[in-house]
This record gives sequence, structure tokens and C-alpha cells, in this order.
Amino acid sequence: MPLHEQRRAIANAEAAPRPALSPKRKVLEGEGNELRMNDPSAFDIPGCTLTLNASLRERTTFRVPARAARLIEVARSDALPQLFARDELARDDILVLGGGSNMLFTHDWPGTVVAMATRGVDIAEDRGDNAIVRCAAGENWNDFVHWALAQGFAGLENLALIPGCVGAAPIQNIGAYGVEVKEFINAVEVYDRRTRSIEHLSRDQCAFAYRDSLFKREPGRYVITQVNFLLPRTHALRIDYAGVREELAAMQVATPDARAVARAVVRLRMRKLPDPVVVGNAGSFFKNPVVESTKADALGAKHPDLPRWQVSDMLAKLSAAWLIESCNFKGLREKDAGVSNQHALVLINYGNATGAQIWALAQRIQHAVVERFGVLLEPEPIVV
Ligand SMILES: Cc1cc2nc3c(=O)[nH]c(=O)nc-3n(C[C@H](O)[C@H](O)[C@H](O)COP(=O)(O)OP(=O)(O)OC[C@H]3O[C@@H](n4cnc5c(N)ncnc54)[C@H](O)[C@@H]3O)c2cc1C
Repeated sequence: MPLHEQRRAIANAEAAPRPALSPKRKVLEGEGNELRMNDPSAFDIPGCTLTLNASLRERTTFRVPARAARLIEVARSDALPQLFARDELARDDILVLGGGSNMLFTHDWPGTVVAMATRGVDIAEDRGDNAIVRCAAGENWNDFVHWALAQGFAGLENLALIPGCVGAAPIQNIGAYGVEVKEFINAVEVYDRRTRSIEHLSRDQCAFAYRDSLFKREPGRYVITQVNFLLPRTHALRIDYAGVREELAAMQVATPDARAVARAVVRLRMRKLPDPVVVGNAGSFFKNPVVESTKADALGAKHPDLPRWQVSDMLAKLSAAWLIESCNFKGLREKDAGVSNQHALVLINYGNATGAQIWALAQRIQHAVVERFGVLLEPEPIVV
């Protein structure tokens, strides 16, 4: 189902007559609060701030122009039940925003953008060899990784310097240099707009896959409020990725630990990826396509230098960067929309590109790769 239809289904489910509230939900939701969605000064949900006609430009790393009819910043997750209890919001199109590093706005958002600004991290349960660590959705991901390393935990080092918030990490099961965040997630706390309650989803319930999860498949339904990690104190380092190994060698680290690997990953990323503070981008714009092994073998026979990795008996992953580069898009620029000359997977806003221009370029790339290789590239960011 297309994104807008999925959102509509959730909005309709919410607008439908509600069953009697359980006592727990009654307490959570509170009663009798008027949102006054068109009057920020009368908007009085504790921990929430309303802005009308808000610019989103500086809230996404692509920095394309876009506005939200309403922006609600949420600094307390226990405000969510009260917030979503109101019919005005139940009927509205809701988009949750973290750091905006995996989003491309091609038009203004006619509904409400909910920006998670909650803070807090603590060790909920220390078991000696490992611990359950709880982190609020609004915390910065890279800060959290470095906090965990400073506390003596290992495992997240390969995911250092990925932009964005902790609450967004489960959405596409962020991954880098051979590690995916799902390996360290114990549970995810969400506000479920369908059941109108706070729920805890186990790792299995999150249905994580390559750059995918339950949350990505049901957009608009869940607001992630907190992520519970299971972090080990000792952990086999993953330094098989050539770039990381070479970086450690360049740093002259003979026996690396988790913190050294994090430093290597940071150095590598700073050298290889365009910095979104300097030039607008959302990292890799396309996922590496997963195709049937027979198709990958046929392509490999024709193009021996096409990088490919077996992911199961029947499936293989292809390098999207190679496919794009082979179609001569690397370094291409059309007005202010372009493809990075550092990395063919990264689309760039050189300053004044609109989201629609970047999306048009992305679609040209998709068409060219389908024509030449018969492979459809799927966008990694959320395109709205
Ligand atoms: C330079 C650069 C490098 C990158 N490198 C990587 C990489 O190596 N690996 C990788 O996996 N990604 C990478 N990314 C993509 C991006 O950083 C991650 O996907 C990140 O997790 C997005 O976080 P965010 O807070 O910016 O999310 P946003 O862009 O704000 O949101 C992304 C999606 O998550 C949803 N969302 C956000 N917060 C919540 C919440 N609390 N509850 C419910 N839904 C929510 C949004 O609705 C949206 O669908 C990179 C991006 C950039 C710019």
C-alpha cells in the first residue's frame, strides 16, 4: 500500500469510535484537555510546544525547503497519550521527525510533524558481563555511542558518527561496516497510535531486516519513545571490513579495542562521506539491491567487476554504488541537485535544490539502472 494510503488507514482507524478505555489508558490519557491546534499560546500539554507553518529546512540534512502546517516538539514522552487523545490529532496526517537525516521532503507537510526532543540515558539493569541500557528517542545517536563506549560497553563502535537520533535507529535498523543495530536492541518502547497505548516491543516483534523493520512498514503508526539496548562489556570486534582494517593500520593501532575501532570508523566516515553540515545530503540514497543468485551470477558473468555478496542460498546483494557509477552519474550536477563525486550513492543539495529536483534526479538514476541492468534501486530515505 502506498505511504499516503497507509497513513490514511491509520488515521481512519483512530477516528473510528473507540472502545471503553482500560483503567491504565484512562490514567495515561488524562481528560478534558483542549489542544487548540491553531493557537500556540493556548496549547498547554506539558512538555509539548506547538509552532504553526513551521519551516523544516534546517531540521533535515538535505536542507530543502518545506513547511509543516503544525510542528509539535515533544520533550516528555508521557505527554504522547494526552496529545494523541485529541480528535484533532487523531484525524491528522502525522509525521515523526528525529534529526531529519533520512528524509527528503518533496512538498510541504499538510498535517502535523511531531519532533521528538526527549532526553535521558541510564543503565536499567547491570548484569556484570552486559547491561540493559535505556535511551530516550531524542538523544543524538553518535553521542549515545560514545557514552556507551565511555561506560565500557562494546558493540556499537562500527555505528559511530551515523547522524540522527536514537529513536530513529530501529526504523531502518541502521547499519555500517558489517554491524546492524538490531544485534544490540533488547526492546523498543513505542506509543502505538492504533491501540492508543504505550507498548514494549521485543526485538523479534520489531521484525528487523536489512534497512527495514516493522516501523518502516507501518509508517505513522508508532512513535518510538525509548530504545532498550543489551550491551556487552566484551565483544568480538568486527574489523573484517577492509576500510576499517586499513584505518586502524594507518592509526598504528596494533591491538585495537572498541574505542579504537570507533575512532577508525569516525576517521573513515569523515574522509569518505560528504559532511551534511557542509553540503546537504542524507547519506546513501539507495539500498544495495538484493536479487536472486541466478540473476547476480548472470550479471557477474557480464560484468566481472560488479561487487556482490551472497546473503542466503537463493539471494545475493549487489553494489548500488557500482551500478550508479557504471551509468555515469557519479559527480553529475543539474542546477543544485547532484550526485556526490566522492560517493555515487550520495545525492547532494548544493544549496538551493528543491526536494522535487532531487527526487527527479533519483528517479532518472533508477530508470537508467533498470534499463541497463534490469535492477530496481530502492530509496533508503523516506520520501514525502
Ligand atoms: C552523512 C550521512 C551518513 C549516513 N550513514 C548511514 C549509515 O551508515 N547507515 C545507516 O543505516 N544510515 C545512515 N544514514 C541515514 C540516517 O542517518 C539514519 O537512518 C538515522 O537513523 C536517521 O535518524 P534521524 O533521527 O535523522 O531520522 P529522521 O530522518 O528524522 O527520520 C527517519 C525515519 O524515522 C522516523 N522516525 C524518526 N524518529 C522516530 C521516532 N522517535 N518514532 C517513530 N519514527 C521515527 C521518521 O518518521 C522517518 O520515517 C546516514 C545519513 C547521513 C546524512
